[in-house]
Amino acid sequence: MLVPMRCILETTETHDYAAGAFNVNAVCQAEAAVRIHEIFHAPAILQGADLANGFMGGRTDFMNATLEDKRKGAKNIADAVKRIAQDSPIPIALHLDHGRDFDSVKAAIDAGYTSVMIDGSSLPLEENIELTREVVKYAHERGVTVEGELGVLAGVEDHVFSLSSTYTRPLDGLRFFKDTGVDALAISYGTMHGASKGRNAVLRKEIAIAIKELLRHEGITGFLVSHGSSTVPKYIVDEIDDLGGRLDEAHGIPLDQLKAVSHMGIAKINVDTDIRLAVTRNVRLLFTRNPKLKEDMHLAPVWKLMDANPKAFDPRVYLAAVMDTVMYGTIPSESVRMLTDAIRDGVMEGIGRLLVEFDQVGKARFVQPATLDEMAERYRKAGI
Ligand SMILES: [Zn+2]
Repeated sequence: MLVPMRCILETTETHDYAAGAFNVNAVCQAEAAVRIHEIFHAPAILQGADLANGFMGGRTDFMNATLEDKRKGAKNIADAVKRIAQDSPIPIALHLDHGRDFDSVKAAIDAGYTSVMIDGSSLPLEENIELTREVVKYAHERGVTVEGELGVLAGVEDHVFSLSSTYTRPLDGLRFFKDTGVDALAISYGTMHGASKGRNAVLRKEIAIAIKELLRHEGITGFLVSHGSSTVPKYIVDEIDDLGGRLDEAHGIPLDQLKAVSHMGIAKINVDTDIRLAVTRNVRLLFTRNPKLKEDMHLAPVWKLMDANPKAFDPRVYLAAVMDTVMYGTIPSESVRMLTDAIRDGVMEGIGRLLVEFDQVGKARFVQPATLDEMAERYRKAGI
């Protein structure tokens, strides 16, 4: 069933775990992501990033996606997730990752997302609070969960880019929750966006502990989010390179540190790169094992893009050649079925091991599901 993300976040606190939140950019990825959560009886948070919605709207040059593209894409992914969620026994939240402005957020909510992020972290604090408060008002009236961001993460993620980090100040974090009424907050505490997080990433877990302590002191229930938290498994990077890719300097966040912070106040851990890597390795492997597919009517354009971009590990680069499959899940041939099977297996591998590591296995039954209307009523009564 589809639920507001807050329903899932609340159980991370009562049952001491962190929920992985995983980005999906195609219908078959959403199906596979839900399937692996079902297998592990885990609650699922699926994320569509702002510009990824442009891609799902048919915009292969998604960096230039317009609001109209994003509206169309948000609806494509939301329709698919709603359909999948209908028959699923586990709670599923659909969350907008890095919403850049009020219009993008509104497009996602109108399409059926049950949670949104508004990323005002590049703005001065007061403006960030103002924008986030405006989004919270619109979203909470509709029962939709809101995540904000405070502090700056280094690295690249679609249109989000910064050379260096500015760690979140705990007192600002408290104020942000108080002044905006936001449900969740992405903090900067040592993680980075992208596949090269440096050789020795160290998480400043004291920042998460301090904000949670301040919130407790004030009687506020707020959840902290760890962005840029892919682990970048070395075995997959090496396999991609063995299969003709050229990924250098790919280093993730050490898994033991993520596991530690999952018990220290981090409620949600965002992972995108791990899935992209596993999918890319599988698609390369598919072409290596079945060289004839390189000339296949449907898959030749995929191979051409992949071969021309050995450094690329973002599936959007080569899946741009099969947009009907991406956007609507269309399977026109057996060869495309082989491609989507390879993608699914990659998604399940990337997510499955983290569900186990983050202690998310078996937690679905603790989630108290609520409809958006019921959640809107809860916010109204609480005055937020
Ligand atoms: Zn992020």
